[in-house]
Amino acid sequence: MLEIKNLNVHYGGIHALRGIHIDIPENKIITLIGANGAGKSTTLRSIMGLTKSSEGSIQYQGESLLKYKTKDIVEKGIVLVPEGRRIFPNLTVEENLILGAYSRKDKAGIAKDMERVYELFPRLKERSWQKAGTMSGGEQQMLAVGRGLMSKPKLLMMDEPSLGLAPLLVKEIFSIIKEIHRQGVTILLIEQNAKASLEIADYGYVLETGSIVLEGKGKDLLTNEEVKKAYLGEA
Ligand code: ATP
Repeated sequence: MLEIKNLNVHYGGIHALRGIHIDIPENKIITLIGANGAGKSTTLRSIMGLTKSSEGSIQYQGESLLKYKTKDIVEKGIVLVPEGRRIFPNLTVEENLILGAYSRKDKAGIAKDMERVYELFPRLKERSWQKAGTMSGGEQQMLAVGRGLMSKPKLLMMDEPSLGLAPLLVKEIFSIIKEIHRQGVTILLIEQNAKASLEIADYGYVLETGSIVLEGKGKDLLTNEEVKKAYLGEA
């Protein structure tokens, strides 16, 4: 579905991505793990057309994404739920969700997806009238994911959805990710919570200072000695 080849990104003198390769087949959950500053967010921003690359290719459903603007990339069915829950604090939950569908015109489809989001996140339905900025951190994270779903993505990319959440909520967000996937959405998940993301991922990549140093099936990476030492806190 999406294929990144030899992607290089520079920020001034910083070589943030150094020729990475990533393959995202349709209907899979792919995860990208790595320490702070490894280049995970840069990878997502490049796919969305928010960061310019200096070399390499990003192919999506058989065509290059590099020539498109972010808005066109969203219309093609790719959505990024950014790190840090960037919701609109002064708008209600429902208004935030409606904004997620800004690029769509099919009113009936939008209403149906609103119902689907409310089914996935009953808490959002209960609080549909509440100003988003007064919701708890976990609720805001769910709203950010719900808003992403409102644009009806084929590929949903999530940047650290479990960041700052209490353990129970982390569990809940990962089970919701699995459910979204079950409904037919391809997922690219970026996480520092390597254990939880490798457990649900079909395939994972490990990024270190701008390069992919390791890749494999989620299950295999979970038992890989290097991954255990560096990312799972096991000796
Ligand atoms: P984190 O988990 O901390 O979010 P990350 O793996 O997502 O890290 P990136 O945000 O992609 O890492 O950053 C990769 C490198 O590029 C870092 O060294 C970072 O300081 C640098 N970088 C990112 N954005 C910019 C920018 N706009 N200008 C200059 N350098 C940048």
